[in-house]
Amino acid sequence: MSDERRVTTSEGGGVAQTFQPASPGGLPVARYIPAKQRAAGKPHNPLNGKQASRLCAGSHAKYKLVGALLGWFGRNARDLPWRQTCDPYGIWVSEVMLQQTQVKTVLAYWERWMHALPNIVTLANAKPEKLHKLWEGLGYYTRVRNMQQAARTIMEKHGGRFPEKFEDMRALPGIGRYTAGAICSIAFNQSKPILDGNVIRVLTRLFGIAENPREKEANARLWGIAEELVTAVASQASRMTHKDFRPCSRFNQSLMELGALICTPRAPQCDICPVAKHCIGLQEGRVHELPNLPRRPRVAQRDFVAFVAQQRGRFLVRQRPGGVINAHLWEFPNLELRQGELGVKLAAHPSDTKGTRRLRRERGCSDLKRAARRVLGTTPAVLEPLCTIKHSITRYRMTLEVFLVFGDMQFSKVSARGRWLATQEIKRLPFAGAHKRILGVLKEQKRFAVQ
Ligand code: SF4
Repeated sequence: MSDERRVTTSEGGGVAQTFQPASPGGLPVARYIPAKQRAAGKPHNPLNGKQASRLCAGSHAKYKLVGALLGWFGRNARDLPWRQTCDPYGIWVSEVMLQQTQVKTVLAYWERWMHALPNIVTLANAKPEKLHKLWEGLGYYTRVRNMQQAARTIMEKHGGRFPEKFEDMRALPGIGRYTAGAICSIAFNQSKPILDGNVIRVLTRLFGIAENPREKEANARLWGIAEELVTAVASQASRMTHKDFRPCSRFNQSLMELGALICTPRAPQCDICPVAKHCIGLQEGRVHELPNLPRRPRVAQRDFVAFVAQQRGRFLVRQRPGGVINAHLWEFPNLELRQGELGVKLAAHPSDTKGTRRLRRERGCSDLKRAARRVLGTTPAVLEPLCTIKHSITRYRMTLEVFLVFGDMQFSKVSARGRWLATQEIKRLPFAGAHKRILGVLKEQKRFAVQ
């Protein structure tokens, strides 16, 4: 999960609707307040910070710590659209989207998704193409397929009602310990712990944990601390008189919020941190050593050539198979260049001399035509460079050299390699990230009628 998730404020356009529970039995649904209405000044924190910190005040340091966090959250929580609802479905969608993705990106995706698929029923029945289109650009598409599987399981086993029990949630496809804990606590105010990247950073610093938090023992210890804290909050619940306070929900969100806004990876703001006086990492001068995470594996470079073929006002595109990265998404025909396979790299190098440039051009040209033949099934008369796309995905840096294909091709041979689609049809399909950017270049150059 990205350490920088939940970092910006909501500016998304509101959707004027109320999310309905999937079953007429009714879930604890809070009305979703559209962005415009929120901007009009509807308060979203039922208690102010002073009240909140008093509620959890106690002699034990643990209670002081949770009280300080709740108080700070009451004063500083960002107004995010998924914080306007107790609907477990909306909270689930936000939690899955926020994995590996920053808050500022998720805002628009979440609003769009909730408008198109407002409940379990609509998700369970959605066509895969629609799901992928709504998720287009968020990456890790297995997540969205798992969500649909989970929605179908909820329809079959729980009558369309989102389960409230932690164990039932864990049994759903794609829902792990963190996501189940987040839904249980945020939607149902249960005292279940959460541990994501932000919480790991906060807790390792607060408690001065020097071990690698991904190792079994340290990880179990962190889960234990998170559980102890949220249980302490729940044990104070009887002192809370405001019916909307929902302490476990607010406490878990306060931990994540502190990690996103104050206890950030590179520049923690310890001078304004509400729990600074409890922080062992700060007292021992070890803040910048924590968390003690292993170095990330080196990113691998991958090079591709892609071909944009157009005939009779239609583009040749193809759908990726299942079981690969970006499975089921669409793309322009392309080929990965394995080292040495085509003899030369296509891109020019700054150290090229005049001679090597010519050699590179000649060899590159014949290599390129060979590559085009492999991808398209026929050799195009002319290939014209369109653009170079650089794109990162998981631990890969991809470079995509893109060429326009001209000349009379044997239509039947080429057709076997994909589908010829008009721009209007292409617009409705979910495209892999790098190939979506090719569409953007085509649109920018106004060479083709891509809207
Ligand atoms: S005092 Fe600094 S290191 Fe400790 S929790 Fe606060 S921001 Fe993080």
